[in-house]
Amino acid sequence: GVEIFRPMRELRSVLHQGMVGMSAAQGIYQILDEQPTVADAAARPLAAPLVPSITFEGVRFRYPGTRRTIHDGLDFQVGAGERIGLVGPSGGGKSSIVRLLLRFYDPEAGTIRLGGHDLRHLSFEQIRSMISVVSQDTFLFHGTVEDNIRMGRPDARQDEVEAAARAANIHDFVAGLPQGYGTIIGEKGVKLSGGQRQRVAIARALLRDTPILVLDEALSAVDAENEATIQQALDVLMQGRTTLVLAHRLSSVIGCDRILVLDGGQVVENGRHEVLMASGGIYAQLMAEQARESSAAEVIDAEPAAA
Ligand code: ATP
Repeated sequence: GVEIFRPMRELRSVLHQGMVGMSAAQGIYQILDEQPTVADAAARPLAAPLVPSITFEGVRFRYPGTRRTIHDGLDFQVGAGERIGLVGPSGGGKSSIVRLLLRFYDPEAGTIRLGGHDLRHLSFEQIRSMISVVSQDTFLFHGTVEDNIRMGRPDARQDEVEAAARAANIHDFVAGLPQGYGTIIGEKGVKLSGGQRQRVAIARALLRDTPILVLDEALSAVDAENEATIQQALDVLMQGRTTLVLAHRLSSVIGCDRILVLDGGQVVENGRHEVLMASGGIYAQLMAEQARESSAAEVIDAEPAAA
């Protein structure tokens, strides 16, 4: 049971992304009520462990029962161990790529491969045991901090939970709580800040130890101090893993091996930051816009002090 539902919990937070304006509770109900749109494939033993590479080949996709085509002729490859940034306009289909990768939906046309295997020939368990998602709105359940971290791997020993918490830069905070790792968090327990929740999510992902990682807006809405500790934790987590970074804030993709720019349901630019900047395309424009916005924000911030 746990093996099946663990990825579903993560999926819930992935899906929550698309539900702007809904309460968390509505979001959860919506997903629990949502019928699986695809049937699981029978798990067939693989000749060799799955290689953490990803391929989208001519993928066309729209959500069942809707008319808008989200992806059309979407093509890209991610090699094992590569760190890829996904950028593009809001609603451009970044999170939808993750939902497809987790096989919550099948494409209308084209093929998605994991380690060279068509996703439709792999079981949910085979697919989802390869992938961890660290999302901006991590789901914490009513329970101890320890249990919330252990959700990443239910049979982890206490010292493994603590090691993950240390690597995620959350151990000192947890140790300072009234009951330490036994402190109840979640809706009726101790409230965690956004940054603390993210670090719990990172600790979970460290425990899960999957070869593929999806970072969904992992650095939004935290202060500078939190940002530094989270970035450190993320650097540990990304080490040696194939990583997809879904970003609004372009600063989080600058260090990626490659950046894919989505527009009109396709990859329109593909390269390193420096290359895309030099080519003067959409990515360079988005960067310039964001730089203007953030310097405008600084001016506004500075005004009261200057007055
Ligand atoms: P953002 O950067 O704003 O998170 P995104 O690039 O991740 O956007 P997606 O979340 O993939 O974009 O959404 C692409 C489009 O699909 C959006 O127009 C969204 O409203 C729509 N969409 C998302 N989830 C669903 C769903 N379950 N059913 C129908 N449409 C959906």
